[in-house]
Amino acid sequence: MFVPNEIKEEYQRKRQKALSESEEKKRAVYLLAPRLEEIAEKRRGLLFDMGVKLIKAKDKEAVRFETAKKVAELDMESAAILAQNGITADYFLPQFECMECEDTGFTGDMEKKMCTCLKQRLLSMQYASSCISEKESFENFDLSVFKKAKQRQLMATVKAEMESYCEAFPHNEKTDILLMGNSGLGKTFMLSCVAKRLTDKGFSVLKLTSYNLINTVLKSMRGSEFDFMSPDLLIIDDLGTEPMIPNVTREHLFAVINERQNASKATAIATNLLPEELQEVYGERLFSRIFAPRITSIIMLTGDNVRMVMK
Ligand SMILES: [Zn+2]
Repeated sequence: MFVPNEIKEEYQRKRQKALSESEEKKRAVYLLAPRLEEIAEKRRGLLFDMGVKLIKAKDKEAVRFETAKKVAELDMESAAILAQNGITADYFLPQFECMECEDTGFTGDMEKKMCTCLKQRLLSMQYASSCISEKESFENFDLSVFKKAKQRQLMATVKAEMESYCEAFPHNEKTDILLMGNSGLGKTFMLSCVAKRLTDKGFSVLKLTSYNLINTVLKSMRGSEFDFMSPDLLIIDDLGTEPMIPNVTREHLFAVINERQNASKATAIATNLLPEELQEVYGERLFSRIFAPRITSIIMLTGDNVRMVMK
């Protein structure tokens, strides 16, 4: 995935911020206990000297050993001083937003891999509308909004189902989800909770409406690059509200869903359409991808009835 300059700079900024905050803390502690600064100075000197000595030394191991011994002594002394002042050793460690990549956006020493945090950042930038809401979470899922006891009970079942989907992710028996039913029954909210939970677990999620998906496809046909394969979970909300453009809509929906299924990548779809309507609107070929009980958990929500189909 391409990383635009503004994102590179954003990462540099936050990494720099974490580093300079840690530097400030260090300076404050040095004022309190100046010996610590001397020790740090000495330590740096020892390591520098070791580098110089290693170039000429015949017995390189001895040089390393000698230095390591001295460094260890200094470290012990500094740990003791810190303890006397009630400071823990990790106090100076830079507080990166992402400890995984230390705010560089990449992990791995030899082979650089893009960190999940950067993938997520790029996705949310690419699709402003795909922002995953902090508020829409299983924790904030208020079942009491469902007035009828039966409905409440059924939504609790679906919620539990979705939570265990997240629990098993990405090793789900069925990679895909199809949530069907009238609007106002909480389909979008349910999928937002899934998005939030998986994002918190470090997966990349792209959530967009079917309408946005088709718009994005249209834009990308005019040049800009879009990548529907990279998110770990792709959520297509409101399938059936997108503009039906001949030779575009069905074909691209098929391409996106089919390609992801072939690569065993998870896709979750919410729609107000009934199975027979899906079949009519999208045709047999695409319908068989969307409504695929073998790999899709198909859940139908109705007013006071939630059916788990072919679980
Ligand atoms: Zn990261």
